[in-house]
Amino acid sequence: MSRTAAVVGAGIGGLAAAALLARSGRRVTVFEQAPQAGGKAASVRLGGFRFDTGPSLLTLPEVFRRFFARLDRNLDDYLEPLPLAPLCAYDFADGTRLESYSDRARFAAELEAAGAATRRELEACLDHSARLWRWAGELFLTRSLHEPATFFSRAGLRAILHAGRLSPFQTLHAANARAFTDPRAVQLFDRYATYNGSSPYRTPATMRIIPHVEYGFGGYALRGGIVALPRALERVAREWGVEFRFGEAVERIVVQQGRCRGVEAGGVFRPADLVVSNADVLATYRRLLDMPQAPEARRAARQEPSSSGLVFLWGLKRGFDRTRVHNIFFSGDYPAEFDALFRRLDLPEDPTVYVNITGKVDPEDAPPGGENWFVLLNAPRAAGQDWPALAARARRAVLARVSKALGTDLEPWIAEERVIMPPDIERETGSTHGSLYGMASHGPASAFLRHPNRSRRIRGLYFAGGSVHPGGGMPLALLSGMLAADLAEKTER
Ligand SMILES: Cc1cc2nc3c(=O)[nH]c(=O)nc-3n(C[C@H](O)[C@H](O)[C@H](O)COP(=O)(O)OP(=O)(O)OC[C@H]3O[C@@H](n4cnc5c(N)ncnc54)[C@H](O)[C@@H]3O)c2cc1C
Repeated sequence: MSRTAAVVGAGIGGLAAAALLARSGRRVTVFEQAPQAGGKAASVRLGGFRFDTGPSLLTLPEVFRRFFARLDRNLDDYLEPLPLAPLCAYDFADGTRLESYSDRARFAAELEAAGAATRRELEACLDHSARLWRWAGELFLTRSLHEPATFFSRAGLRAILHAGRLSPFQTLHAANARAFTDPRAVQLFDRYATYNGSSPYRTPATMRIIPHVEYGFGGYALRGGIVALPRALERVAREWGVEFRFGEAVERIVVQQGRCRGVEAGGVFRPADLVVSNADVLATYRRLLDMPQAPEARRAARQEPSSSGLVFLWGLKRGFDRTRVHNIFFSGDYPAEFDALFRRLDLPEDPTVYVNITGKVDPEDAPPGGENWFVLLNAPRAAGQDWPALAARARRAVLARVSKALGTDLEPWIAEERVIMPPDIERETGSTHGSLYGMASHGPASAFLRHPNRSRRIRGLYFAGGSVHPGGGMPLALLSGMLAADLAEKTER
């Protein structure tokens, strides 16, 4: 008799779990409410321009490589990662401009030329980041923090041994302010808090691990756009026999006598031996399990959601030599920006502007002479704000900031435009409050408070995706799917 699994959602985590469960011999069906796979990693065409509408920077390619290897496949047969040099062009409020590189000597030269940091400061910062990765990276990312065995593993013992040096009680900003004397370098390294939707003034200094992810392992674009990733994951899952049911929203995860029995989609009961929910964890408890009062749901609801994003997709009739694939135009008042985002739940008056232009590495993405600008602002979680009014205000601020930096009035060059607001992200991907990365990493114990990949209450129920352990971002969402599948195979014999 074949063993079966149902997966709710074809985001990165759901796709990873589905493929591995199929690899271990299960008959797997993925139910996805959207017409395609990918969730937040989606893509759109406007006129002659193509845009990724969600993630834009791929990190930790090794994680994806290992995933393909576990499916007896070579990543290079499915994806073409394009290493980025420079990684990012930074434009500061005082007019300083510099570029970051994973080549340390080159990055140090840029920082020194701008007078923003010394080579020694950079070396010390990146060496510390690499040490944090060695001490804690494996534990936090590739293991469940909720299974006792983890802490008796080598990775667990190593992290316990170095626990004091992970600096969980200091903030990222405080640590960066000690590591660098120039405020521009502090701001550049504070920005890594936003890689999981958090504030540098509240996330623990343990997050100094993130620069190693970017500078140690590199940052990548993908040929065909980031959307090539979910397409590749879907392809390999299909090769292992996974069935996809697109346009089918799961209405209910069916539980009887404390055990998952399957799902209900389109009013039809679909039995399964186990269920993996790749839907947002709060939505899973509230809507799919009808258990809003379960302790796990209440605990998740008490945690602060990560920031959301306000996106402008701009198809420009011209290009700029000065811009790169990734560009940051920093706010002149970073503390005020995060105060607006997390305390006032408002858009900052002077926002940091991020611009991704995939056409720089993939000319197919824009007509000749043009550029496809994905403009992202950190935004507060959706909480009933007047978004059209906020977006109009932000649009003016972005145009003023970027036009000043480029020395050209940008607005007349916009040929195509679409705006994506936090409530759109919430509606289209099912992410509660439109948060990009699940829960914010605020507080020393945040990593331990994320929901586990296996339910203790309901047998046969597993969780994968950015709102559960180990957290948001594409590599982590993939790892969560791998953890969920591995736990399921260990538990459901
Ligand atoms: C604007 C933006 C920028 C980002 N930038 C980056 C970046 O540069 N780098 C990076 O690594 N990460 C980035 N991220 C985060 C990254 O996209 C996510 O962490 C990751 O894609 C989440 O994957 P997931 O597995 O949680 O699934 P999700 O993408 O959340 O997908 C969940 C899927 O489940 C489906 N679903 C939900 N409920 C149901 C139901 N009841 N029935 C059927 N289907 C259901 C949804 O339709 C969706 O397809 C960004 C995200 C956004 C939105």
